[in-house]
Amino acid sequence: MEEDRFVYTDERFADIQMLRYRLNGFDELTLRQKIYIYYLSEATLYGRDIVFDQFGKYNLRIRKMLEAVFRAQTFSGSRDESKAFETYLKQIWFSSGIYHHYGYEKILPAFTPEFLEKALSATDVNSLPLAEDQTLQEFCEEIFPVIFDYSLFPKRVNQADGEDLVLTSACNYYENVTQKEVEQYYSEKKKDGAEGMPSWGLNSKLIKQDNVLREVVWKADGLYGAAIRKIISCLEKASDFAENDQQKKLIRLLIDYYETGDLRLFDKFSIEWVHENRGEIDFINGFIEVYGDPLGLKASWEGIVEYRDAIASKRTQAISQNAQWFEDHSPVDARFKKKTVRGVTASAVCAAMLGGDEYPSTAIGINLPNAEWIRAQHGSKSVTITNITDAYAKAAHGNGFYEEFVIDQQTRDMINLYGDQCDQLHTDLHECLGHGSGQLLPDTDPDALKAYGNTIEEARADLFGLYYIADLKLVELGLLPNGDAHHAQYYTYMMNGLMTQLTRIQPGKQIEEAHMRNRALIARWIMHHADGAVSMEKVNDKTYVRISDYRHLRSLVAKLLAEVQRIKSEGDYDAARELVETYGVKVDHTLHQEVLARYEKLHLAPYKGFINPVLTPIYNNVGEITDVKVDYSESYTAQMLRYSKQYATL
Ligand code: ZN
Repeated sequence: MEEDRFVYTDERFADIQMLRYRLNGFDELTLRQKIYIYYLSEATLYGRDIVFDQFGKYNLRIRKMLEAVFRAQTFSGSRDESKAFETYLKQIWFSSGIYHHYGYEKILPAFTPEFLEKALSATDVNSLPLAEDQTLQEFCEEIFPVIFDYSLFPKRVNQADGEDLVLTSACNYYENVTQKEVEQYYSEKKKDGAEGMPSWGLNSKLIKQDNVLREVVWKADGLYGAAIRKIISCLEKASDFAENDQQKKLIRLLIDYYETGDLRLFDKFSIEWVHENRGEIDFINGFIEVYGDPLGLKASWEGIVEYRDAIASKRTQAISQNAQWFEDHSPVDARFKKKTVRGVTASAVCAAMLGGDEYPSTAIGINLPNAEWIRAQHGSKSVTITNITDAYAKAAHGNGFYEEFVIDQQTRDMINLYGDQCDQLHTDLHECLGHGSGQLLPDTDPDALKAYGNTIEEARADLFGLYYIADLKLVELGLLPNGDAHHAQYYTYMMNGLMTQLTRIQPGKQIEEAHMRNRALIARWIMHHADGAVSMEKVNDKTYVRISDYRHLRSLVAKLLAEVQRIKSEGDYDAARELVETYGVKVDHTLHQEVLARYEKLHLAPYKGFINPVLTPIYNNVGEITDVKVDYSESYTAQMLRYSKQYATL
């Protein structure tokens, strides 16, 4: 009965479709495991305010202001304007701030400053986040330009070649410093660093005061202390219900790190975390990914709680058990291959709670830790999040997208038959093998590729996956039914990289996000070198991708993989820049317009995000938890308003 009532899709607003994910198999977990998940989930939700502040220094105040108006329902105006107000607030929640979660550009509201000012003056002033001694008038003068003036810090992360990326990015990781000063500061720190050096700068803001540079560290008694202390307290409670001593040990290290801000402790934690594979339950909680920093140094806070998906795990185990075979047979130069691929653990998991930079928009696969030296010495842990992937696939079913963009019925049939399976497998290969493959030459600085590092790394992982999805080894392992099934993946990958991912770019804009740059880079490079095996064709005034020779396509994947691995292994900055700038950034204006127009007619949302389940502990009369209930009925707005109250820390 429950089964049928589960609804995957929820409301739509702006360019976003909200989805729900199911906690498959949660009821089969033991009470102890459920409680462990519950407390880890609480630790995940308490980091929410941190991300808002990291993504822009006005974000928290803007969110609080909008929520105060929304709660008081003091806005009045045309129906369109009131609707625009609600949409804007939903977007701010979704992006953890006023910048688009994916394109990083400032979200402009479709209501006027006058509309907002009127609503604010009708709202109880005590509920508004005014600074000390600030009048409402002064508050508006301070905040309104941030919201309404696009020219004022238009981007959260600016990647435009040649500009000062620190000064022109609105992310809240630096204050009063130039890109050059930041680069100097950290290259100084890295100077005497041997193997095993921490990722300097990962958990702090760099500011200049009285001409002195100093790091303000995010820790229990530092910046974001109020949030971090709550996270620590939940982790402590979770620890009592851990499945094994290793989990207890790593939670202890994480708490020590949060208390001291010592990045060496974070590395120690990460190493123990890599080695914890026995439990069913795992989590991510910390300052992890650096995509939100134009220089790739500072990490946004994120949290995920997950538990093993037993069925899908069999599939990824088959891949990782053969990791050495894949490494040995890859088309890259022998010098760049790992002699022994260590610790490639793969598992398929179900997400139980998403938080911070992973909420509401989330990854479908994760490979951590990010520190190169830990990966080299201890390996890494990869997961694919199956209940999230399921939700995407269910939501995409029959929405008209392939009918519009795929060249013919034969290709569509192939995609319908093998598309989901291949996509899942490509993600597995990307996460379980791709990121963990290859090695740097001994003298190569891991940060040598600077702003191009993220894109090159994603390209490397994607290419590794593309190369092997066409390998008969996968048929032999029982993961694909035949040697042609991968055509589905090749076609959709090329179509996405060449055309359809442009639906995520606004008119006149270029490609900024690392994963998108990577996909454009791969697809366009291959087409450029394909001698017609891959082409763009017009049929009835509509552009389609045609692939006439899949074998040739694979040989180009092999060639590019070898080159991208060389760039990474040698730290060839110039080649990385050339490759990314030539193939990964620019947008063909005419094609872009056409794709947007065709996509628009489908009335689909280019972005999806997830409403979390509500986990509620049931207590007995002596205060012990006797069960944890899962409920999926909370609406997006109700969830966001509740989080803003229940998990308010900053
Ligand atoms: Zn990746």
